[in-house]
Amino acid sequence: MKKGKLVVYTGYSGVGKGEIMKALRKLDDSVWLSVSCTTRKPREGEQDGVNYFFISTEKFESLIKENGFLEYARYCDNYYGTPEKAVNEMLEKGYNVFLEIEVQGGLQIMDKRPDCVSIFVTPPSFEELERRLRGRGTEDEETIQKRMARAREEKEYEKYYEHKVLNDTVERAAREILDIIHQ
Ligand code: 5GP
Repeated sequence: MKKGKLVVYTGYSGVGKGEIMKALRKLDDSVWLSVSCTTRKPREGEQDGVNYFFISTEKFESLIKENGFLEYARYCDNYYGTPEKAVNEMLEKGYNVFLEIEVQGGLQIMDKRPDCVSIFVTPPSFEELERRLRGRGTEDEETIQKRMARAREEKEYEKYYEHKVLNDTVERAAREILDIIHQ
């Protein structure tokens, strides 16, 4: 069986990666989203093992020591990391494996797995990004400010990504991403 592609799927907090991902999975059975570990607290409605594996800092640090992560990073006071085993298994089965990760992790993957496809999802503007982040209603004001500041730093890393996809509408962005991974 043909191996799947490893896709680094990055974009600023609030840009709409999650909505695009829902559309991608509806449109294409080959898309598999890796479930990351995080030390962040679950948001309302998030489920352990579905959205993330929510683990303690102690557990996260022991997984780092055991080389359990394909990549990991700290983002706005928390750890986030991609468990390696499941990713390799799903690639072997022919799935196109998406890693929804921030820029530091994205660069680690580009380094380790140069055959990956890298995609950065961009907003129409930073004003629109802040509007979307606020509109989602899941973060308090301090967190919104931290995430907007982080987004401005992350802008510097856009240039390392092979493909930039504008999230003007979810459906259009999803179709563009499918064209990229199937080309
Ligand atoms: P959130 O707290 O909004 O779920 O995620 C914050 C940021 O961490 C997002 O940019 C998200 O893509 C990123 N992220 C989620 N999982 C991982 C991961 O496993 N590794 C890295 N490096 N970033 C991640």
